[in-house]
Amino acid sequence: MIVLPPPLLKQIVDASEAAYPEECCGLIVGRFQAPDQALATRLAVSDNVSTNDRRQRFEIDPRVRLRVEMEVRGGSERVIGVYHSHPDHRAQPSSRDLSMAFEPDLIWIIASVMDGQAIQVTAHALNANGQQFHEIPLHTDDWAPYAIRGETGDGADGP
Ligand SMILES: [Zn+2]
Repeated sequence: MIVLPPPLLKQIVDASEAAYPEECCGLIVGRFQAPDQALATRLAVSDNVSTNDRRQRFEIDPRVRLRVEMEVRGGSERVIGVYHSHPDHRAQPSSRDLSMAFEPDLIWIIASVMDGQAIQVTAHALNANGQQFHEIPLHTDDWAPYAIRGETGDGADGP
């Protein structure tokens, strides 16, 4: 599971809505409290530097990654995941996301934004074989499950 303090969840929701109809993206910084329990402590916001259609693609600025890696060096925090939004698609990883998932340890947080409003945020991890994602629990740090504002879908293969 990943524990995301409410201000960070709000930051992802706000960024997802602000970037609409394009995808927002960034890194999740934190630490593992147990092998299967990650705590997010902050986000590193990135511009979506994809040169393709940013309504369906994202690319985190490599300079942001580099900066964060230098900031966390020698400390207890590290990059534990990435987040991005799915404008007008559901909050499930796409086949393109899977093809971009090179790092087996990273958690993927995806926000679905429908008509400009974020309606769902989900978390995913790669299976051991790296061939598939599975959804993992997303909690805020008061241990309340994240309230899903709506459930909508339009097929498995969004952005
Ligand atoms: Zn995606």
